[in-house]
Amino acid sequence: MSKLKVAELFYSIQGEGRYMGVPSIFLRTFGCNFKCQGFGMPRGELSNEVEVIAERIADFKTYEELPLVSTGCDSYASWDPRFKHLSPMLDTSAVADAICDILPHKTWKDEHLVITCGEPLLGWQRAYPDLLDHPKMTGLREITFETNGTQELSTEFAQYLKDWPWQHKDGFTREITFSVSAKLPCSGEKWEEAIRPEVVKSYQDIGAHVYLKFVIATEQDFADAECAIGAFREGGFKGHVYLMPVGGVESVYALNNRRVAELAMKNGLRYSDRLQVPLFKNEWGT
Ligand code: SF4
Repeated sequence: MSKLKVAELFYSIQGEGRYMGVPSIFLRTFGCNFKCQGFGMPRGELSNEVEVIAERIADFKTYEELPLVSTGCDSYASWDPRFKHLSPMLDTSAVADAICDILPHKTWKDEHLVITCGEPLLGWQRAYPDLLDHPKMTGLREITFETNGTQELSTEFAQYLKDWPWQHKDGFTREITFSVSAKLPCSGEKWEEAIRPEVVKSYQDIGAHVYLKFVIATEQDFADAECAIGAFREGGFKGHVYLMPVGGVESVYALNNRRVAELAMKNGLRYSDRLQVPLFKNEWGT
């Protein structure tokens, strides 16, 4: 049976993107190909908040005890190797059991499954078929992969998704979504590594619903997003585009959410909130 290294597994409201407001199980797998140390920093500078936390690693016995950060990646503990001992390796049957345990009715109703980052399309692609085929997952209708859009699907996983029973035997239509949070220069990552139109197009080609989501703090970020949107469209991307305010903490989020909403309206793009920030203060497990 396949195994997954699980950074977090929790039940909450999806705060971002297409399924904003939908009760959702979040499965956060361990590992990412980026660091995104530029978020919330002046352009060209990198956050060192995680370095400071890592120096005190012995103080933290569980994932939930780790401090939240206001700059850099707010999911740092889900990929930084210095925190990997806090994320257990579980077989897919144990993950399916744990999911059903935290569903309010112990079985799927109208909840949605979010497989999120770190970057969930790294090596764990080989384990998802085992998980999704588990008998406890049969009532599941909708899945979102929250990805940075840089990882190609393996031939086997792409075929698995194409063959997935999109029409459930009980008559309802099932959906797979790729929520692609492509990283702009404000993340601190390199454009040529972060903006991969051919990869995003390949998600679309398996019949999934694919949308782009850009984190915006400044006018420059929006100018970068426009360039990226152009590149994705040229590469054949046909989905919706969301602008989302920067801010894993409420003070930062509240500074620019209205401005980003107005920018989205002015440019005919969609606005994504971050409901988890005002509702739950973006704490672990939300
Ligand atoms: S891609 Fe996502 S999880 Fe990875 S470092 Fe960037 S923000 Fe964090």
